[in-house]
Amino acid sequence: MSALTADDAIQFVRGVGPRRAEQFAALGLRSVRDLLEHLPFRYEHDQGFVEIADLRPEMNATIRGRVVRIGGRYPGQTAQIDDGTGRCTLRWFQRPQGRDALYIGATAVATGRVKVYSERLEMVQPALRVYRPDATPEPAAGARLVGVYRATAELTSRTIRQAIEQVYQQGAPTTEEFVPTALLARRGLPKRDAALRLAHAPRTEADADLARRRLAYEEFLLLELALALRRRRLLSGEVGCVLPISPEIDRRIRVRFPFALTASQDAVIRELVADVGSGRPMTRLLQGDVGSGKTAVALYACLLAVAHRHQAAIMAPTEILAQQHFAGIERYLRGSRVRRALLTGALPRREREALLRGIERGEVDLVVGTQALLEHDVSFASLAMIVVDEQHKFGVVQRARFRTKGPMPHYLVMTATPIPRTLAMTVFGDLDVSVIAQPPPGRGQVITRVVAGRQWEAVMQHVRGRLEAGEQAYVVCPRIGDDPARAEPADEPGPAPQHELTSVRQALERLSGGPWRGLKLALLHGGMPAEERQAVVSALAAGALHAVVSTTVIEVGVDIPNATIMVVEHAERFGLSQLHQLRGRVGRGPRDSLCVLVARGPGLGSDTRAAERLAVLARTTDGFRIAEADLRQRGPGELLGTRQHGLPVLRFGDLVADFALLEQARDDAFEIVRNDPELAAPEHAALPPAIERLMGEKLSLIDAA
Ligand code: ADP
Ligand code: MG
Repeated sequence: MSALTADDAIQFVRGVGPRRAEQFAALGLRSVRDLLEHLPFRYEHDQGFVEIADLRPEMNATIRGRVVRIGGRYPGQTAQIDDGTGRCTLRWFQRPQGRDALYIGATAVATGRVKVYSERLEMVQPALRVYRPDATPEPAAGARLVGVYRATAELTSRTIRQAIEQVYQQGAPTTEEFVPTALLARRGLPKRDAALRLAHAPRTEADADLARRRLAYEEFLLLELALALRRRRLLSGEVGCVLPISPEIDRRIRVRFPFALTASQDAVIRELVADVGSGRPMTRLLQGDVGSGKTAVALYACLLAVAHRHQAAIMAPTEILAQQHFAGIERYLRGSRVRRALLTGALPRREREALLRGIERGEVDLVVGTQALLEHDVSFASLAMIVVDEQHKFGVVQRARFRTKGPMPHYLVMTATPIPRTLAMTVFGDLDVSVIAQPPPGRGQVITRVVAGRQWEAVMQHVRGRLEAGEQAYVVCPRIGDDPARAEPADEPGPAPQHELTSVRQALERLSGGPWRGLKLALLHGGMPAEERQAVVSALAAGALHAVVSTTVIEVGVDIPNATIMVVEHAERFGLSQLHQLRGRVGRGPRDSLCVLVARGPGLGSDTRAAERLAVLARTTDGFRIAEADLRQRGPGELLGTRQHGLPVLRFGDLVADFALLEQARDDAFEIVRNDPELAAPEHAALPPAIERLMGEKLSLIDAA
């Protein structure tokens, strides 16, 4: 029996031929390493009994079954037991202990050696225990946990388990150990090969958990190392513009705002002023719920750069948002000498070229734009501050490209999606994090109610009363896919399919023909031309409408303090974070707002998950807690709304459940890079290729930054 190496093809495992190997390949398992790293997704208690169908000559085994025959004459006493997979005769040459207790229908447990007798398998001279038919026999000596593996119709979990057992019988192949021994000791984790072996054949659940945690830790460590290295690369040797603050500059910036900054805004400004005053390039993530006042903070940063005669850029994810940012900034900058411009894809060629020249010559101080800012012909005279209003729609790639536009500008990403700490530590793990915790003063509360479809009429009547008294409302309907019973996550604003429009229209018809008869209502959806959409929003802002019936296009950007009522139709079809975003459209004025989540659709009553999900929103307005719940329910890819979020596929670790482990791995990774930035020490030699394997393409995204 030759020993296997981890790189051998599965086909070389005894008992696995080319046909089986193909079945393994269908599960993505090709090498012995793949096989060993295919961990059980759960465990079953194996009581240690061998099935009668599996008995082989000369085996020592314990079987359990129902007594179906008692025969022979003393001393040739026999009994036959049936365990559902076959029948086996038990044979004794002397009066067996317990024999008197045997009766037809009893449960018997027999342990002994298997022999061939007249070409049939028998168990000779077994030790015997007899139980009542309904009793649970004690486990046999070989009792253990057995893994249940992800399998296919052709390739059962059992066959996979047998192949893995075979590998270990043929001699234990070694897989690479990446984790330095000192770290394993510090974290109390086993070596890699030991962990794999333990994962496949644990004695206890605690063993199995320890094994999986070890492999999860390794994954987290590699991921965090990639981030630590990236962060180092961003900062090492790079000099950012030194932008010191002075009381005079601070005063001149603050007079631009028609309000006093909140304590939360001030705290964040202190953090970023410390960054940019140090000469170290800032890389900071600014988190704050919708309406928390991120724009003022961003503008403060930009004006600090401009005060030092550098340029600043603000990038928004859509044209509409870029325009809104620009309009908002215009309000703050009216009468100032700051030269500002809006650069979007919609700009005519002539104007665009003139603007680009201005930017290149340093005749523009502050540019607001979309992705158009990333195009290759845009270059700045002296770009010192980049603000990216992420709205969680930007991927790593685009940020990376923006980076290359000047000599190490400072960099602030704003996001309205509260990012759970676990993701902040991974996807954005190379950034410092600031949080605006408190909204500006004078805001009313938002009361959230989950209502069932049958309550709709009554609730809408109630809302009608408030609309007639001068409040305004949004009614949001989900995008609906081809199959009307199935919802698509309505995450991406954009051109809407035809059937979605009918659903918005239907909602409008039901309202205008029913509880909201006679009120001024308008449609708003992504299929409308931008000017029409803008006109509807303006009419709402001007108070000319009672309500708009909309798709999720109103999720971003619209800011109308008098709109205090949000009704979400089919709320069960939205993600929690998205509902939180939608709810953020109200509660912007001094009045208390109302958010009505209409839970509809088949089986909601029985779909406790949907009901539970919505209950989270009714319970809390804390975006971080909502985001945590959402992450738990939908995973990081969905939550971030993009595939380019830079997270590798994790095979062993769970970002939510293993949070404490993730924190440990992060501490360890950053410490490693601090002490050995090139990973040149012998105990770190295995790390770089392992990082590369885990991160794959994602790594090149990181390198581009
Ligand atoms: P965000 O971008 O975080 O969603 P904004 O920066 O757009 O929030 O601010 C939301 C609203 O709050 C704006 O109307 C803004 O004028 C107002 N605002 C911001 N900061 C303050 C403050 N310190 N005091 C009062 N109002 C503020
Ligand atoms: Mg904003």
